[in-house]
Amino acid sequence: MRKEVTDCLFCKIISKQIPADIVFENESVLAFNDISPQAPTHILVIPKKHIERISDLTEKDKGIIDELVFVAKGLAEERKIVESGYRLVINNNKDAGQAVFHIHLHLLGGRSLGWPPG
Ligand code: 5GP
Ligand code: ZN
Repeated sequence: MRKEVTDCLFCKIISKQIPADIVFENESVLAFNDISPQAPTHILVIPKKHIERISDLTEKDKGIIDELVFVAKGLAEERKIVESGYRLVINNNKDAGQAVFHIHLHLLGGRSLGWPPG
């Protein structure tokens, strides 16, 4: 059984207590459109396991980030943004701008993205 964290927004999206525009779901991963898209494609890919941030990953979480990346790769193919390009981002803590403390991989594409990030 998945351990849900009751005050976590993304856990509530996983358990469907809060609606989201879900674009992919399997046993361990959920992907949904960002509520405030920063690019034509802006999807959040999250593990169903509640882990607050990358720096909290432990040995037993090995493989989880792989899964997120593979789901994002597939979604990028679906959206036909492979040739044009896309960016995968995970923010960790305050200076990176992390606002939701349940690991999420941003898939951004469909426009030219600036670099370096702000
Ligand atoms: P962070 O800044 O933590 O890396 O990214 C959090 C992301 O979650 C932001 O891009 C924000 O727009 C998105 N977000 C925040 N609340 C909601 C929500 O209720 N639903 C959806 N779909 N996205 C959300
Ligand atoms: Zn959570």
